[in-house]
Amino acid sequence: MGSSGAALGPQAGGPSAQGRQAGGTPRAALADLLAGNRRFVSGQPVHGHDVTAAAAASGDQQPYAVVLGCIDSRVPLEAIFDQTFGAICVIRTGGHVLDRAVCGSIEYVVGQLGVPLVMVLGHERCGAVGAAVDALRGGERPGGSLAYLVDEIAPAVIEAGLDDPAVHPLAIRRHVRRTVRTLRDDDLLAGPVAAGLVAVVGGLYDLATGEVTLLEPA
Ligand SMILES: [Zn+2]
Repeated sequence: MGSSGAALGPQAGGPSAQGRQAGGTPRAALADLLAGNRRFVSGQPVHGHDVTAAAAASGDQQPYAVVLGCIDSRVPLEAIFDQTFGAICVIRTGGHVLDRAVCGSIEYVVGQLGVPLVMVLGHERCGAVGAAVDALRGGERPGGSLAYLVDEIAPAVIEAGLDDPAVHPLAIRRHVRRTVRTLRDDDLLAGPVAAGLVAVVGGLYDLATGEVTLLEPA
């Protein structure tokens, strides 16, 4: 799968009819999602202005993708993919860390709503990954439930190499890939993924440009 997604479908412009439906193909869904990001990056969103109660209330829910991202306030997922109400399901946790509630939510969206695409979206300068780096370097595990986030991100930091000066950006990428792998192996997702009915992909959001780049599997 290419890093730009350019070969996957429509370029900038409106969403394709094919991707915007439950039960569509993962390929068409990914093309639509990336086309939305290109509209956002180009400063020509078609849904960016459409934040009205009328828009929210119109039509049924027919999402075609679910995006799992970070809580970071600079990465609002509907906006960066230029999506309107009812188009994508969004889950956000610190460092897009998985737990049973997150996995159950994705299983519901895929299994019950027929959504063919799951995207895990990391981002540069992620504070949650930074907290894991700091905790491992300092040998001090945070208290409370923050410890859970750090523990879940720590394997990616260790893989990246704690002594590497670029450990933070490297760990961000590894953590996305690890999250993708975990979801591909999920009890209820593995079958549809193996059959090609559902795709789980990883992406990275550039805070400076607004661009989403797909991450190749490790
Ligand atoms: Zn983050």
